[in-house]
Amino acid sequence: MDADAIVIGGGLAGLVAAGELTEAGKRVLVLDQEGEQSLGGQAFWSFGGLFFVDSPEQRRMRIRDSYDLALQDWLGSAGFDREEDLWPRKWAEAYIGFAAGEKRAWLRAKGMRWFPIVGWAERGGYTATEHGNSVPRFHVTWGTGPGIIKPFMDRLREGEKLGLVSLRLRHRVNSFTTTAGVVDGVEGDILEPTKVDRGAPSSRTVVGGFVLKAQTIIVASGGIGGNLDLVRRSWPKRLGNPPQSMICGVPDYVDGRMLGVTEAAGGTIINGDRMWHYTEGIQNWRPIWSRHGIRILPGPSSLWLDARGKRLPAPLFPGFDTLGTLTHLMATGYDYSWFVLSKKIIEREFALSGSEQNPDLTSGSWRKIIQARRGGGAPAPVRAFMQRGADFVVESSLSDLVRRMNDLTGERLLDLAVIEREVCARDREIDNAFTKDAQVTAIRGARNYLGDRLLRVAKPHRLLDPAAGPLIAVRLWILTRKTLGGLQTDLSARVLKADGTTFGNVFAAGEVAGFGGGGMHGYRALEGTFLGGCIFSGRTAGRSAAKL
Ligand SMILES: Cc1cc2nc3c(=O)[nH]c(=O)nc-3n(C[C@H](O)[C@H](O)[C@H](O)COP(=O)(O)OP(=O)(O)OC[C@H]3O[C@@H](n4cnc5c(N)ncnc54)[C@H](O)[C@@H]3O)c2cc1C
Repeated sequence: MDADAIVIGGGLAGLVAAGELTEAGKRVLVLDQEGEQSLGGQAFWSFGGLFFVDSPEQRRMRIRDSYDLALQDWLGSAGFDREEDLWPRKWAEAYIGFAAGEKRAWLRAKGMRWFPIVGWAERGGYTATEHGNSVPRFHVTWGTGPGIIKPFMDRLREGEKLGLVSLRLRHRVNSFTTTAGVVDGVEGDILEPTKVDRGAPSSRTVVGGFVLKAQTIIVASGGIGGNLDLVRRSWPKRLGNPPQSMICGVPDYVDGRMLGVTEAAGGTIINGDRMWHYTEGIQNWRPIWSRHGIRILPGPSSLWLDARGKRLPAPLFPGFDTLGTLTHLMATGYDYSWFVLSKKIIEREFALSGSEQNPDLTSGSWRKIIQARRGGGAPAPVRAFMQRGADFVVESSLSDLVRRMNDLTGERLLDLAVIEREVCARDREIDNAFTKDAQVTAIRGARNYLGDRLLRVAKPHRLLDPAAGPLIAVRLWILTRKTLGGLQTDLSARVLKADGTTFGNVFAAGEVAGFGGGGMHGYRALEGTFLGGCIFSGRTAGRSAAKL
């Protein structure tokens, strides 16, 4: 045996699992197809938003949350309706228990801290038992993505020093090995060394092969979002036809290959048709990975128009219902849509997801945050997109704006009269203290929350008010991100076979396992639940494997 355990994938789930194993004194090999520079996987790039329930941050902001409310929201979003949802549902319940219980204290003891103002993602906009967060729950970690991986990277390095961890980088697993029908290792290709920057596509030239043996294997290889062919093949009918053009919210190594490898060894994939892609993607003007897109984390005020300039129906407002919006847009026959907003809105309401797009929060320094936000105005990364982003149009008059929107796509689908009618009607409702416009009501409701009023929601104003201008239009792409289905696992993170039995010694954690069970989110997510899902399932897999 080369080690007690092999962990496939040096992303967050793999790092957490490896740490649990070394704490139990086990010898671990951590394999990754990328080089040293990409350790930490997607989590490094993440915004670091974590879902906590009834946290001190929430209580300080006068947000009353509870396990029961979170469970109600989760089940309303998940919509579990399949026989194979048995384990995903059990994972969901266990995860909400973790998020309402030990999670924050466990991470805090590892040195993590959170920004004091809690964000309100996926607001839903339907009834109490349907999709969405009833209360703000999105806790941004100090240091964003790098702050999330730091304690687990530190633990890995500690394990290396103790001689318990050995990294095998540029090792790409192609299959499992078995002896007498029992999985006892993995084999694969050694890829040529790489010096590319973190997250950039690396060479796939094979320079050798390997076979490594261990008593237990943990698959922590991430999802499929970097593999557009696989995303299209997995695209469910209920979301319409797969988009012809998409941009990628994840690096190329999120290729989904290990799903097929584990399936070939007898593992079961469930809910492969459940995915979480965003509808507010913009092309990164400074790309790192292929077709690199950034997600706008929008406040609720932008006017959302389809490719023909028709306003999206209630409650498909920015930040309310990601998949509801995706379904609607795919039915329009176009892959893109538009935000129309004012400078005043962009300054207050646009945040960009990703550690590199939030240098102030990523620095973890209050001084830098205050410096960056002093004097109002849009944050520097948003300003850079306004100036250099291929999807932004800034103009003083609506007619110029619409003309340039048409120029941008070259499709000439937008009619000034149609857009003017939508904008003027919306502006009339802003001036109306009663209003029948559900988005205007939602904006006013959001401002009842102190966190939104302070940071995230612009004071309601007319879009055509010159004092709020200039006007801005943003072309929005479909942006791939998360894989909600995956390898079916029991509550010990053991991979299940088609007949419901386990391998005994093969575990899965993180996105490859649908964040637990093979899809603990069901159809939809409440946000901030992916990093936490990797931590929870990675911890479970590591602890279970350590017992063998
Ligand atoms: C920009 C961005 C922002 C995000 N923001 C948030 C957020 O705020 N909140 C939140 O909850 N989530 C967020 N997420 C999602 C979250 O970061 C991911 O879901 C999570 O980090 C996935 O971790 P993982 O360990 O499962 O997989 P990954 O990070 O994808 O790691 C898997 C690793 O396995 C390796 N691998 C794959 N196949 C093989 C193979 N065959 N052989 C060897 N190695 C292999 C890969 O190279 C990779 O290093 C964000 C993601 C991105 C990209």
